[in-house]
Amino acid sequence: MIENPLRLKASRQKPVTSGQRPVPRSQEPEASDQSPDAQSQTPAARCKRPDASLRRATLGLSSSRRQPSCNRPFIVPVFLPHAGCPHQCVFCNQSAITGKRSTPTSKDVHHQIKTFLNFRRKPRQNTQIAFYGGNFFGIQAQTAERLLAQATQYVTTGHAHSIRFSTRPDTIQRQQMALIKDYPVSTIELGVQSMDERVLKLSKRGHSAADTIKAMHLLKELGYEAGVQLMVGLPGDNAQRLQATAQKIARLKPDFIRIYPTVVLSGSPLAALYKKGNYVPLSLAEAVSQVKDLYLLFKRENIRVIRMGLQASVDLQNGSTILAGPYHPSFGHLVYSEIFLEMAMSAIQSDHSKAKSVILNVHPHSVSKMSGLKNENIKRLCQEFGLQTVDIVADDSLKKNQLKISTRP
Ligand code: SF4
Repeated sequence: MIENPLRLKASRQKPVTSGQRPVPRSQEPEASDQSPDAQSQTPAARCKRPDASLRRATLGLSSSRRQPSCNRPFIVPVFLPHAGCPHQCVFCNQSAITGKRSTPTSKDVHHQIKTFLNFRRKPRQNTQIAFYGGNFFGIQAQTAERLLAQATQYVTTGHAHSIRFSTRPDTIQRQQMALIKDYPVSTIELGVQSMDERVLKLSKRGHSAADTIKAMHLLKELGYEAGVQLMVGLPGDNAQRLQATAQKIARLKPDFIRIYPTVVLSGSPLAALYKKGNYVPLSLAEAVSQVKDLYLLFKRENIRVIRMGLQASVDLQNGSTILAGPYHPSFGHLVYSEIFLEMAMSAIQSDHSKAKSVILNVHPHSVSKMSGLKNENIKRLCQEFGLQTVDIVADDSLKKNQLKISTRP
């Protein structure tokens, strides 16, 4: 029995408009790990936790405050644009992305943390203070310790649970790790970007794939939650090299992945290459397709993909920050929609190719993914299979990654 039925009707004569979408915004999940897996149809992977017992003992903090929970954390970002960067990576311009120009002062850090904590809906929600936008282990030790000490104040007073930061793979060394052992750091994100040496070189990363492998092994040995940031569309990359990168990363079993499409940011070295015609970005459709393939590969390996696409911001959307490339404020949604479209196409093709009307049952949270942005999926299905109507019905007996398909008598 279908509960809570919500219907989207589409016909070739009169396609629905986005205004007819019946799912209230509050029901629509953001791009997250709780997403459909078209091929394996497995439930969303459960989040793994680091074994932080060593560091917990050192900190003397209670495990309930110290350890990240399985809930998606509430992240309080503190941006350190280009702090500690030994190289100018070809695609990067953190100032353009974050709108910030310099490393924040102590006062700025407190102000930023307090402001973000006020946005938190549930005070007890797992909260992490995150240092992003630079190469954390490249920062002068004194500054890094000042930042960690500031963030630790919020953990010891119970306003946050732990600290996370992003850093380059070649900075993960035992000596560096010793510097943070007395702070409540639980999560480290590695800016890996690619595992292909040609791509790393052309992107001017200044580190190798071997650095990433060594770094991941050390993070796991020390019990940190370890994440990986990957990019699609880097100079010299292609779909085959990207798949090879993804397979190498999957073997390292990171706790989570972020995937970003390469865009041409003004002021970046890539902008100069692009203007001379020496770099051609991926189209939006190519980027969505490549990210979808990576997403499905990681889901099959039970590795959480926690973000696909750049976080939309006023700075990114102001028209002068991104010169070219596959930026879309709902990039993750486009990827999920493509996955649902392919599921529906394959099911119709194999079992309902003669049907004139189909009913697609999906979990209520997946209705917008099934319909696609501006009901694009419904239009595609109508065109592709000559369908007269496509009804999308919300069915909370299904999992978020499932699709049930039937035809109208
Ligand atoms: S990608 Fe990372 S290391 Fe490279 S310039 Fe940007 S912040 Fe620095």
